[in-house]
Amino acid sequence: MEQEDARQQGMVFNIQKYSVHDGPGIRTIVFLKGCSLACRWCSNPESQSGFPELAYNAGRCLSLGKCGHCLPACPHGSIAEGSDGKPSIDRSHCTGCSLPCVQACPAQGLLAYGQPKSVDEVLRVVEQDMAFYSRSGGGLTLSGGEPLLQGSFALALLREARKRRIKTAVETCGMVAPDVVREAASCLNHVLFDLKHMDAAVHKAQTGCSNARILDNFRILADDFPEVPVLARTPVIPGVNDTPEAIAAIADFVRPFGRIRYELLPYHRLGTQKYHFLGREAPLGDAQLGKDLFRALQGVALDILGERVQIPG
Ligand code: SF4
Ligand code: SF4
Repeated sequence: MEQEDARQQGMVFNIQKYSVHDGPGIRTIVFLKGCSLACRWCSNPESQSGFPELAYNAGRCLSLGKCGHCLPACPHGSIAEGSDGKPSIDRSHCTGCSLPCVQACPAQGLLAYGQPKSVDEVLRVVEQDMAFYSRSGGGLTLSGGEPLLQGSFALALLREARKRRIKTAVETCGMVAPDVVREAASCLNHVLFDLKHMDAAVHKAQTGCSNARILDNFRILADDFPEVPVLARTPVIPGVNDTPEAIAAIADFVRPFGRIRYELLPYHRLGTQKYHFLGREAPLGDAQLGKDLFRALQGVALDILGERVQIPG
């Protein structure tokens, strides 16, 4: 079983070192591809599909006149010349391919979001920073997408990390099978659990799914795994949950679980460029969240949960 864990493969789209925002201490964040929700504000659009995806960064392209290697590399004729003299990609045909155009591109104008990696390959990168983890109380955080959606790979990563004395955390949206939550919890040192809205209909309209299973999984973690610290988090999104009523409803849900801490995260637009690289429009456009409104909503949570509210530094 242990050797099998190290050899298991999953779809990874990024490994980010020296993070201080996603769990205690200094951490390495491993981003797994695939998500069970489709949040309209997603800042990692490249995480949503479970498969490798083609990204095109026009700013790095040398132009077809000077280069043009991608054109003949595509076996499906999905790349043509655009009006700007650079590639125009027909994404309706650009699926299920092994991305030879990315291999052909010398300038990183074409990129692949997502690569298969083994548990051992991932942990060899994570282990490079063991000294930082032991000094800061940090470790590995699995993120995504929804990392627990790749259940057997995520569980193998967590088991093998613990075997190698690496502390583990997961950032989850909670929309996964309860059995996977239970199994993951037994090899986690920390959970970051997103609660986005308490109204099931609004949750479904904004994320594609009702919140019923998410809330059930939250109760499982809170009640059945008292040894695992849980931080509930709400990304505050303009037009979705940026009202005192919405935040109060979430804080009221968290309140009976006395050991659970809570944090509000302000909406940001850092994912906008990645939508463009994928040939998509960012669904929320140029929506913004005012600082004063965010502070007022933190005040709502503080009134209900007091010192259990964590204020990001
Ligand atoms: S990913 Fe495949 S189908 Fe799409 S443009 Fe590249 S080679 Fe063509
Ligand atoms: S191979 Fe890359 S740099 Fe060359 S034309 Fe295609 S996208 Fe541009």
